[in-house]
Amino acid sequence: MTTSTSWEPADADEMVAALADARSAGQAVEVRGSGSVLDRIPGGDEPVLSTAALDGIVDHAPEDLTVTVRAGMAFDELAQELAQHGQECPIEPIVDDGATVGGRLATGLAGPRQLGAGRVRDWVLRVRFITGDGHPASAGGVTVKDVTGYDVCRLMTGSWGTLGVITEVTLKLRPIPRQPAWFATETPDPTVAARLYRPAAVVTTAERTHVLLEEHPDDAAAQAADAGLEPAAAPTFPATARAALDPAALPGFLAELQHANSSPEGAALQVTAQGQLGLCHLDGSADALARARSVVERHGGRLLVLDPALGLAAFGSGHAPDAMTNRVTAALDPDGRLAPWRWER
Ligand SMILES: Cc1cc2nc3c(=O)[nH]c(=O)nc-3n(C[C@H](O)[C@H](O)[C@H](O)COP(=O)(O)OP(=O)(O)OC[C@H]3O[C@@H](n4cnc5c(N)ncnc54)[C@H](O)[C@@H]3O)c2cc1C
Repeated sequence: MTTSTSWEPADADEMVAALADARSAGQAVEVRGSGSVLDRIPGGDEPVLSTAALDGIVDHAPEDLTVTVRAGMAFDELAQELAQHGQECPIEPIVDDGATVGGRLATGLAGPRQLGAGRVRDWVLRVRFITGDGHPASAGGVTVKDVTGYDVCRLMTGSWGTLGVITEVTLKLRPIPRQPAWFATETPDPTVAARLYRPAAVVTTAERTHVLLEEHPDDAAAQAADAGLEPAAAPTFPATARAALDPAALPGFLAELQHANSSPEGAALQVTAQGQLGLCHLDGSADALARARSVVERHGGRLLVLDPALGLAAFGSGHAPDAMTNRVTAALDPDGRLAPWRWER
């Protein structure tokens, strides 16, 4: 587990200097936001490049529905600031453990409302970052018209600290929905989504299918009644592992998983699915998750395991970088300064 902080730069210039230090010491570094996920990836005691001092809002333009924020700002603090203006960026984390804005981008993990709101990358207008070889870079623009060339913002989203250190992010905003409300079916029924108009979330647990509607309350109540839903609490999500695969492959994956878990030793696997997104959240023993990993990889997906105590790799072979990823990494981090060990843990 990585706990020590070697560098805590306060701005982009200090970040460049920290990377130069690391380079001259021949060291590779682990970029760290709040550590909520990083501390759950098996690791050593590598030098840490912390974004903790990159805090706060740089510019909020409520009339333009944009905010520019330093990457180390806690996402929930940003959400509170925006709420004072009746605005939000709907990419909040499923597990709120102090996540930073930079960490949200770097992991690209799907939030609870991704079905209705889109992916993390869809809300990113501009990213400023420092490449592994110490060059400040900026991708995207504060207005869509500013943008030409490749969409490097999307490349940085989900790069897990391997392509650059994100220092500043400009996000799109929207008004907070008037009255979001959760409903649920009596028994699991993922097909309920087809009977609803643009649900914000559809989440199936072993007991029920939960639906988040962000319509006007009267419309939401009418839709829910038509679809046979009743008011319910928000679902909870198992936090140990995330399976991601093509939504079309999800039913086959779930059927095979159920079969693999019908034996007594495999039974202890809890699964919550965001089926339309091809996502499953799992809790279970090391054996059950190892089996789930081989099933998901057979279906062309991958399993992220976030519990080092289980003795499983966090990323697994499904995350092995392909030739293009290797070439992009070589271009942005030619000396392998940024967590070159990332996909092997
Ligand atoms: C067990 C667990 C499961 C979770 N599952 C989900 C989920 O399914 N969906 C969801 O929405 N949220 C989930 N979260 C929330 C998640 O922690 C945060 O959303 C966020 O992705 C991590 O933010 P962080 O600042 O803690 O990043 P850290 O844990 O510090 O870092 C995570 C990764 O991002 C990189 N990184 C961080 N900051 C930067 C930066 N500025 N520049 C470049 N790279 C950077 C790190 O190098 C590392 O690879 C989960 C949290 C936990 C603890």
